[in-house]
Amino acid sequence: MMNQMNQKMKNNIKEFFNEINNSDKICVIGHIAPDGDCIGSVMALYEFLKTEFDKDIRFGFDGKIPYNFKSYVDEKLILTDFEDKKFDLLVVLDCGDEERLGKYKSLIPNSKKIICVDHHKTNTEFADINIVDPTISSTGELLFHMLKFGNKQISLKMAEYIYTAIITDTGNFSYSSTSSTTHRVASELIDIGVDVAKIDNQIYNSKPVSTVKAYIECISNINFYYNNKLGIAKISDEIVKRNNANINDIEGIVEFIREINEVEISCVLKEYNPALTKVSLRSKNDIDVSEISKKFEGGGHAKAAGFQINGSLKESEAILVKELEVYLNK
Ligand code: 5GP
Ligand code: MN
Repeated sequence: MMNQMNQKMKNNIKEFFNEINNSDKICVIGHIAPDGDCIGSVMALYEFLKTEFDKDIRFGFDGKIPYNFKSYVDEKLILTDFEDKKFDLLVVLDCGDEERLGKYKSLIPNSKKIICVDHHKTNTEFADINIVDPTISSTGELLFHMLKFGNKQISLKMAEYIYTAIITDTGNFSYSSTSSTTHRVASELIDIGVDVAKIDNQIYNSKPVSTVKAYIECISNINFYYNNKLGIAKISDEIVKRNNANINDIEGIVEFIREINEVEISCVLKEYNPALTKVSLRSKNDIDVSEISKKFEGGGHAKAAGFQINGSLKESEAILVKELEVYLNK
């Protein structure tokens, strides 16, 4: 089904399954502050390995599991105390560089073999085997193609994880990364038994009131620049605390700003601490925000990227407004 799988990709996927067969201790991890694609693809691969093999299989997430993915992860099983732990095989999913591994970065020198499965344009090919295709909608979709190529059975549980990865990374099949193949994959997953409405309720219709109240405060204070081509919202610690919310659960603001007709680039700034700001960028048309992110040692995709700035919310906003002038002040 995957259209242009080149020989290198095929060889890498064969190697991936060989390495799995030949390894006793395997660990599957994703990127820091895990999102739907990260959690869905890590859990799908973990589920596959757990059911198909009698091996020591572990998984890890660095950062809080967002409220809407809690039922996807048995948090008691998340890898902790791994300083001295050695793995035969470390599979890294949905993560473009070593820094994004967060605390699990220390697993890199402690693992005999590292395989990275990813779709980020900015992937640095840090692993021994890199199965990376930036044209694919999500790591979940890429994993599906790999499992199919290996003639592996996809259980209902795996299908639910993969479906979740796809819908969250494609904005429900709306981003330009969505291909006809993405839809064919989804259709196969539905044939396996995925209940589309159940997953929709789980992921999107389950927001805590505290999160929504914080969201409303943030979107009532969007600043616009360059004839409304740039919209910036700030999620301050004050707003988060006042509403008793969790900063990582306040999602969707950057997409909300992009819905505005005039906006070309939308931006959300999260106050990690008074001197550290997390930046999320989205573009609507031709501006490649992954290029902007690279300048700040971040990464991502052409239309969705992110990075951090060592500065306050206000300072970061000023830096961004200046940085984006060349793109927007035409
Ligand atoms: P988000 O804005 O939703 O956090 O992330 C959008 C995209 O940019 C995702 O693909 C994510 O992996 C990537 N991204 C976000 N923050 C960072 C970062 O600090 N470093 C890198 N390399 N990628 C990031
Ligand atoms: Mn992804």
